[in-house]
Amino acid sequence: MSISGEKVFHILKEISIKMDENKAFLSELDAAIGDGDHGLNMSKGFTAVVEKIKDEDKKDIGNILKKTGMTLVSNVGGASGPLYGTAFMKAGAAVAGKSEIGLSDFIEILEVALEGIKMRGKGESGDKTMIDAIAPAIEALKESIHNGDSSLESLKKAKEAAYKGVEYTKGIVARKGRASYLGERSIGHQDAGATSSYIMLETIYETLK
Ligand code: ADP
Ligand code: MG
Repeated sequence: MSISGEKVFHILKEISIKMDENKAFLSELDAAIGDGDHGLNMSKGFTAVVEKIKDEDKKDIGNILKKTGMTLVSNVGGASGPLYGTAFMKAGAAVAGKSEIGLSDFIEILEVALEGIKMRGKGESGDKTMIDAIAPAIEALKESIHNGDSSLESLKKAKEAAYKGVEYTKGIVARKGRASYLGERSIGHQDAGATSSYIMLETIYETLK
């Protein structure tokens, strides 16, 4: 599997479309245990990303991802802006100078992105956040590759693991972000950020398929 800068940009455009389509849904999820702006944040953020990235950026995937991160930080007001922003900036640094990336690069991208989110938000698995979708996706991806599955099969398993992670957030108490103010009352609701992370992973799979 080899992904060009043009393809990475195409994926970002697809993510922007998906965030738009899921704007009301993500905001509804956030409204139940937060302040109801997650859909708007994501849709606004990725619309700005697509506008900001220029043709000359596409030669360097590191550049594309770095610019994506910086745009999310400056255009998204909520907690998710700096968190996803840091994730994409770290991802950009990991593949700086590359015009093509493969599956091993993608694993590295996800790993450094997760590291960035954990560092920035001081969160861990089980806190009912985006981490609960991303961490199991990375594990599933690595396991699938280890078992000899094709790249696409591995990406499919990764997004399925992310979905299970989203489901898992329904049953746990929020320990980070606005939802944590609700304590036990956050149980029964799926986390909005875990859901947007799942949507991104699903879109990556669907676009590469
Ligand atoms: P805000 O909470 O500021 O309104 P958003 O609604 O855009 O921002 O994003 C909320 C999402 O951000 C949550 O659903 C959760 O997944 C994620 N989140 C919040 N705080 C943290 C944190 N410390 N670590 C990781 N993810 C977090
Ligand atoms: Mg919110």
